[in-house]
Amino acid sequence: MSPHLHAGGCPLPPRVIAPALAAMRLGGFVPWSSVDYPGHQSAVLFCGGCPWRCRYCHNSHLWHGTAEVPWRTVEEFLERRRGLLDAVVISGGEPLAQAQAVAAALQVIRDKGFATAMHTAGVAPRRLARLLALLDWVGLDIKGPFARYPTITGSRRSGLAARAALEMVLAAGVACELRTTVHSALLSAADLVAMVTELRELGVSRLVLKDFRSQGCADAGLAVRHRPWLTPALAARLRAIMPDIVLPGRPELVGAP
Ligand code: SF4
Repeated sequence: MSPHLHAGGCPLPPRVIAPALAAMRLGGFVPWSSVDYPGHQSAVLFCGGCPWRCRYCHNSHLWHGTAEVPWRTVEEFLERRRGLLDAVVISGGEPLAQAQAVAAALQVIRDKGFATAMHTAGVAPRRLARLLALLDWVGLDIKGPFARYPTITGSRRSGLAARAALEMVLAAGVACELRTTVHSALLSAADLVAMVTELRELGVSRLVLKDFRSQGCADAGLAVRHRPWLTPALAARLRAIMPDIVLPGRPELVGAP
């Protein structure tokens, strides 16, 4: 059994863990996933709350952080899944919106022998820094070039936060996957080239591009305005900057150079 450790290496005592978990706002959980932490059989917990308001967010029902699932339900479930699942993913919403509860959850999850993973947009880099030692893998959303963040997230300083979060993840050497949702009304071809160039300059070598999905999007206008425009020629241009770019699985892009 591993000790309860926080990023500074000191045990987080039960008197802190128990109330943090009791106050945790979980909007739901998925009992099994093979895609949320690539290469792992995971349960996925969805944290409520997010300080950003990305127009394409497909989990907008989680923004206000209503508690739907008590932690004890999750813990009982995980006890029954020992040996069947090997990891737990904390997703959202935005886990960093309730970092103390997430820290406690990650510690308990590790104690039970599961690997730990988290999806985040890096909304609060200092909170992320405290969690990195508790994580085996991070799925980090990159919204676009950092200068375009305010338009996409509705938050003025979001680009600065995201850049700092990315630099922390890279410096910590935690396994990670960077992912970008491409919506044609929010990211132009020039934006994509600028973003990939920025990421390459920061030392990123791999990026997963995902198509916008209208399911769950609260912005009805945006949901119907998406026209997939990522072409093989643009894909080739992006790959000339960063060779390892994973493209959406659309027929015209399968086999793109
Ligand atoms: S950061 Fe993520 S959860 Fe928050 S609004 Fe944006 S897409 Fe939704």
